[in-house]
Amino acid sequence: MRETERKADSSEEEKVQGGQRELEERVLRTGFCTGCGACVNLCPYQASYRDRTVILHHCDLAQGRCFAFCPRTPADLTDMKSRFYDEADLTHELGAVKGFFIARAAQEGNRRRSQHGGVVTALMTLALREGLIDAAVLTEKGEELLPRAVTVSEPEAAAQLGGSRFVVSPTVAEFNRALRTDCRRIGVVATPCQALAIAKMRLQPLAAAESGMDRLKLVVGLFCGWALSWRPLTDILREKTDLAAVIGMDIPPSRYHTLEVYMPEETARFSLDEITPCVRESCRSCADMTAEFSDLSVGSARLPEGWEAARLWNQVIVRTKRGRDLLELARRRGVLEFREVPAGNLEKLKAASLNKKKAANRPQGQSGAGDRMGQAG
Ligand SMILES: Cc1cc2nc3c(=O)[nH]c(=O)nc-3n(C[C@H](O)[C@H](O)[C@H](O)COP(=O)(O)OP(=O)(O)OC[C@H]3O[C@@H](n4cnc5c(N)ncnc54)[C@H](O)[C@@H]3O)c2cc1C
Repeated sequence: MRETERKADSSEEEKVQGGQRELEERVLRTGFCTGCGACVNLCPYQASYRDRTVILHHCDLAQGRCFAFCPRTPADLTDMKSRFYDEADLTHELGAVKGFFIARAAQEGNRRRSQHGGVVTALMTLALREGLIDAAVLTEKGEELLPRAVTVSEPEAAAQLGGSRFVVSPTVAEFNRALRTDCRRIGVVATPCQALAIAKMRLQPLAAAESGMDRLKLVVGLFCGWALSWRPLTDILREKTDLAAVIGMDIPPSRYHTLEVYMPEETARFSLDEITPCVRESCRSCADMTAEFSDLSVGSARLPEGWEAARLWNQVIVRTKRGRDLLELARRRGVLEFREVPAGNLEKLKAASLNKKKAANRPQGQSGAGDRMGQAG
């Protein structure tokens, strides 16, 4: 059976093309919008507001890039994977796998600013330093837990932007903006929905040079169980924390059943029973846990020593030659260090990823978002 994006309605003859009107009817009004920003900064008609996408002006074009690039409009993912990845590497559970590693940033200082082992920041910083990219689309902490998507060109600036923001970032809107600048080689750090939107942009009929997509040189994907809706999340967190003092968050493996919220002097813990209702509606139907449309994907590690040791490492899936070359460069330059992959880790990751795919296909109301908190718990 062909793998397709979840349909916004049950019609057999799913419309695969549309314009703003279809986008509004099928995605924006139905809770399927991921907030990735793929439809923003293409034209003046849509904008990102907080963690939402809003329509500023109506557009009556029958077909639009806004609809074509949206990660929640129909797409033949199987076909896309066979275009972008080596057939021999494709797996049903994780997409393309050329290699699987446990790694972390070699410098302790770099890890301290990062969410887990600091692999993502180390790779983006290295890519900038080596001139593989001249611009990195990243996410920084904004006010009241609202992330901001930014483009940086200095490795030192990229090195400061570690850490995961669990509210969606309009990364693809920022990528669209970067395409209109004179950046020649752009790298992006993207969650699964953002990476899918960027992959759909690569499919557009315009020649790569005309669309600017020939300037996309690197996509580092993040594993992602889900993102949280800003409004309900901040309502809950405000009860126990000063939002301005929050410096980070994490979700340990699922047996902890907790969202940890870090402040300089203390950590507040929230039961996932409280947090699950804040999971973004569109994440409940997302079937991609590992950002399958990227050059390499990075998530937290699982190690026999337990979570306190594992949280300082990353699992890395290499998907493309470009991803493999970057990881090998990082090894040669001493930017990353590696340890042996524990037996069974890849199989556990595959099982967790498959769970997310199954949960995405369950009828609404049984999404199982709680099952996959903390991914491969
Ligand atoms: C919403 C979300 C959900 C996640 N869920 C899981 C999960 O279930 N299981 C799992 O193993 N890992 C998950 N991750 C990934 C994990 O939190 C780490 O990002 C990953 O392990 C890489 O760690 P690191 O130390 O290498 O990252 P760092 O070196 O700290 O780099 C983090 C990078 O992420 C970027 N970033 C931060 N927030 C966002 C955002 N909202 N959107 C796009 N880019 C962002 C930053 O620009 C930075 O480049 C999630 C991340 C996000 C953003």
